Amino acid sequence: MTILVCGGAGYIGSHTVKELIGKYEVVILDNLTTGYPFLLDDNAVFEEGNLGDEAVLDRIFTKYDIDAVFHFAANSLVGESVQNPLKYYRNNVNATVVLLEKMIEHGVGKFIFSSTAATYGIPDTELITEETNTNPINPYGKSKLMIEDILADISKVHNFEYVVLRYFNAAGAHISGDIGESHDPETHLIPIVLQHLLGEREKISVFGTDYETPDGTCIRDYIHVTDLANAHILAYEGIVNGKVSNDVFNLGNGAGYSVNDIIDICEKVSGKSAVIEYADRRPGDPAVLVASSRKIEEKLGWKPQFKLEEIIESAWKWHSKTSNVTNV
Ligand code: UDP
Repeated sequence: MTILVCGGAGYIGSHTVKELIGKYEVVILDNLTTGYPFLLDDNAVFEEGNLGDEAVLDRIFTKYDIDAVFHFAANSLVGESVQNPLKYYRNNVNATVVLLEKMIEHGVGKFIFSSTAATYGIPDTELITEETNTNPINPYGKSKLMIEDILADISKVHNFEYVVLRYFNAAGAHISGDIGESHDPETHLIPIVLQHLLGEREKISVFGTDYETPDGTCIRDYIHVTDLANAHILAYEGIVNGKVSNDVFNLGNGAGYSVNDIIDICEKVSGKSAVIEYADRRPGDPAVLVASSRKIEEKLGWKPQFKLEEIIESAWKWHSKTSNVTNV
């Protein structure tokens, strides 16, 4: 069976390709705007091109016998989406609609979609289930929810089945240390703290200390990228085996950690101490986002394998290896 991985040169896509290889044939479509050649797997076929390019999609769906599409290719920065909403609606919505049209035209009817906790907005509950109201507060979250709605509509009239996976905070790196998280610019907490501890940044800014949480900093649910990757494969196999169809699942560890907790564990793992600046809140940050992943555990037997300290250890291994600072 051949899987088309859109965005397979990106962070979560590349880790999923690693898990797919050996079980499935993999074709990667990526335009390398936010993905990197060094994240490409040698055992996958790489097709460089844009998701919204009909000619590229026609060629791929004609050339390969694709059974399913895993779709990771998207812009995913909340702040940028507020500043430049049209970029998000074009790349995350328009391009995906073209992909879906081409799948249907070529008779490819299985789709695993990367969605996000940002679809929930500021939830009125601390433990978010799939029943929690969706009310995204930024164009990024809205763009993902729009596709979720489109998927529900097309599955009613076409031979098309999908699973939506709503990720909480993806973190960590492959245990081999060969691939890991790399964004430019980097905005995520764990890479920023580790880069600082490696001497690549002068200090860390903690965004907000007056949230209604035990230590005043935001609480998030961090989930290892390989745990996310494996959920995609279970979701695909769940469609193939008739266990799931047209469904939505949260992916998190079910445990919340504050920004201060993360810094403490990064210090412990690295054996170094951080210089911390307490700063204002970052606009758009909910105080607490923690997932219940019970539904996917029950329906597909998914269970996260990595605890927070292991997540940070794997990230530390990757960042230490790729650090551009040599005197640490
Ligand atoms: N954060 C922080 N300093 C940073 C980066 C992030 O205090 O330099 C906080 C951010 O405000 C949020 C948490 O860390 O409360 C996780 O942020 P991240 O950007 O990693 O993920 P998000 O939850 O926004 O998807």
